[in-house]
Amino acid sequence: MISKKTVEEIKFAAKIEEVVGDFVTLKRQGQGYVGICPFHNDSNPSMHVSPRLGIYHCFVCDAKGNAINFLMEHAKMSYPEALEYLAKKYSITLEFDRPETPEEKKLRSEKDSLYIVNEFAEKYFMDQLRNSEEGRLMGLSYFKERGFKDATIDKFHLGYCPGGWDSFTQYALKQGYQEEFLLKLGLTKKSESGKLFDFYRGRVIFPIHNHTGKVIGFGGRVLKKDEKTAKYFNSPENDIYHKKETLYDIYLAKKAIRQKDNVYLVEGYTDVISMFESGIENVVASSGTSLTPEQVKILSSQTRNITVLYDGDAAGIKASLRGIDMLLAQGLNVKVCLLPDGEDPDSFAKKHRDSELIEYLETHTTDFLLFKADILSKEAGNDPMKRAHMVSEMITSIAAVRDNIARAFYVKECARMFELPETTLNAELKRTVWKKLNEGSRKNTPDAPEQPVTDTITIPVEQSAPEQEKPAVDLLYEAEKNVVLLLLKYGLYEINVYDAQNPGQGTQKRVDQFVFDNLFNDGIVLQNPLMHKIYTHYAEVAEILMDQDDIKRTFILSEDPEESQFAIQHLDSNEPQYSKKWEKRYDIFTNTIRNNVSILQQEVQNIILNLKMRLVEQRMTEIQKDLSQEGNTEEDTMMLMQQLQLCVKSRSEIAHRLKIVVSK
Ligand code: ATP
Ligand code: MN
Repeated sequence: MISKKTVEEIKFAAKIEEVVGDFVTLKRQGQGYVGICPFHNDSNPSMHVSPRLGIYHCFVCDAKGNAINFLMEHAKMSYPEALEYLAKKYSITLEFDRPETPEEKKLRSEKDSLYIVNEFAEKYFMDQLRNSEEGRLMGLSYFKERGFKDATIDKFHLGYCPGGWDSFTQYALKQGYQEEFLLKLGLTKKSESGKLFDFYRGRVIFPIHNHTGKVIGFGGRVLKKDEKTAKYFNSPENDIYHKKETLYDIYLAKKAIRQKDNVYLVEGYTDVISMFESGIENVVASSGTSLTPEQVKILSSQTRNITVLYDGDAAGIKASLRGIDMLLAQGLNVKVCLLPDGEDPDSFAKKHRDSELIEYLETHTTDFLLFKADILSKEAGNDPMKRAHMVSEMITSIAAVRDNIARAFYVKECARMFELPETTLNAELKRTVWKKLNEGSRKNTPDAPEQPVTDTITIPVEQSAPEQEKPAVDLLYEAEKNVVLLLLKYGLYEINVYDAQNPGQGTQKRVDQFVFDNLFNDGIVLQNPLMHKIYTHYAEVAEILMDQDDIKRTFILSEDPEESQFAIQHLDSNEPQYSKKWEKRYDIFTNTIRNNVSILQQEVQNIILNLKMRLVEQRMTEIQKDLSQEGNTEEDTMMLMQQLQLCVKSRSEIAHRLKIVVSK
């Protein structure tokens, strides 16, 4: 393993403008640089590069990241490859921690080996398809029959595995590839008698690539309809192939997805390829499974708009409806396009001209929730039980929608379709949202909507309106996030702190020290795991680093992907600049600096008070919950009431200092 020291050295040596500049022409602008973004099609310089923070950010497609992200995303390097590239570029000698333990070495080299073996297999299959007689006769002609063009066959790296028993395996072994890896990747199988054979023998091959273009697995299709064997064979799960994180064609489709700001989701390889041939390149397949949260995450980093294509024969439609709520909950806009009866995207694309397909997609794409309501409503007919179930099913979906206006729209539409009063649906919706908020664990908070979900729902007072069902969790997370961002942005700045005993006697204190002391004195520990992690990590590095930008860069470049994602998301180059040592320069810029410092002081106070406020509120909620529990003894109740009173008191004290009014 490359030593931590070397990694640090590399990270701080790497100049973002030089790294990006290796691939993109940059022009100086203000404090930074601009260039044409390589992640989407553009002719304007929309990508900004900030040397101060070491990040790039495209304002059109929102590609964002540090130097290492850039190399991984744009130049398709792995993390270690990116480090090696930078080490070379900045003449840093790679130092290794200590000799690797055999296990570490095995694991590291094993993954690398798996990629290498897959790449070898892909090349072999491609070569067989084109250059062997059997491949041309069987494989290539199969693809031609399906109507695939040569350029497409090359683009998707399609191949053919010979029909003999073990041609591939024998060749691979002869070339020095190890049996162990061939077996792990599922390219080779072992018969009961211990003989090795080719898993995909006699099949055409669809290689599966990850988003950086590396081969992670294969699908193999039989040439003829044969009852005795499965139509498709697929790679087994292994260290480099995780089905639930894989989207077929994401590598080739990525650019078009960003350009069109939309992605079509289809079932499998042939659907993707046929759509691609018809000129629709923003298409991926979830390959057999229904969409997983991991896949959604990958998609949502490329676009917020997803169109799901359904086969006309509708069998799977109902089963997959549920999965789509997950897309809505991630704040994605989901549309649905239903193909004519009996057609899948592949067959439809084959039967129609490109322009007809495009027109069909444009005219038959409808809003997902209305589509769902329509299907459920038809299915339920007049059966009251089924209709009740349908309503709650729809409400679950609507509750997942983030946008308030959209939610109100759906309630209206459903009320109309189901012939129910809007108020009935609204009441049901409130109940569902409350239930969800209570279930929502803090773990998920970073991904959760930033605004409380209950915005447009007026909580009816007469209906017990329980405190604990307000989105206290989100507010607390926001408060913790503010504390963490305060440290990352201004931790090393100094503020003037007044001693309560000695008004008028101010002392200088660093913001981070002030925050640490304050939280420590009140025994406050950040509850969100990520915020807690960053807080602790900050405390470690703030000892060593003397420059606020270095602190920011440390997190932007953090090895922990959660940390670096958070920092990249929340730190940018146009923060207001406060004076660091106000007193020293006080005489020179009297007013502006004085104002700046007092703004920062105010902000620090507010952020800490706000956190305390949320914690007190959280405690109050717990107490109220305990109070409403049955079986409390009188003593319990007394104690809880006392605690509650204390909370109310401290809440109004905090509120007073925050100068906001809190209703009793
Ligand atoms: P046909 O020529 O009979 O239509 P096909 O190869 O198009 O066969 P379909 O049965 O139509 O396959 O399936 C549609 C899509 O679903 C295909 O693109 C295929 O990639 C995918 N698919 C089907 N079965 C599997 C499977 N077992 N594993 C992975 N993908 C599959
Ligand atoms: Mn088909």
